[in-house]
Amino acid sequence: MLVRFNEISPHGSTFVLNEIRELAEQQDFILDGPVTAECTLKRNGESKVVLQGRIELTVQIACDRCLRLYSVEVCTEFQQLFALDSDEAWQVKDVESMPADLETEILDEPVIDLDDTLRQQVYLALPVKKLCVTGCAGLCLQCGANLNETTCTCEKVVDSPFAVLAQLKK
Ligand SMILES: [Zn+2]
Ligand SMILES: [Zn+2]
Repeated sequence: MLVRFNEISPHGSTFVLNEIRELAEQQDFILDGPVTAECTLKRNGESKVVLQGRIELTVQIACDRCLRLYSVEVCTEFQQLFALDSDEAWQVKDVESMPADLETEILDEPVIDLDDTLRQQVYLALPVKKLCVTGCAGLCLQCGANLNETTCTCEKVVDSPFAVLAQLKK
């Protein structure tokens, strides 16, 4: 959804999205079920808009250790400032009146792409360390057996980064 600055009411406008463009085609996760997103936009002078957003969705991602797909509920709230790339946009007094930690995106045109913004936020909300269960046993480095489900007869490899490296060099 594209929102032009002049479509935003002086009192703020709220947009509800139940679909985010290209989200179903991402390589890093599989969309699982409905998407709920809400964005409230408020003008801040001629050249700035503050966005307050919230997204809820479930995705399936692959476990870092055993590669099994598992579901993650993503529920994230965020704030972002959009500023038009113009000389007036960066007068010092304006900048000072904005919270310092507000993430700012500079726009060439007075148009906000809500889908793009929401997609980025989904990525930011995904866990850094992706584990299907705490303490997932992972795959055997030698035979590939899923050690959560089975035991294998391979000689036990010492669990250290160097052992992993040694395996890769073979
Ligand atoms: Zn796992
Ligand atoms: Zn094995």
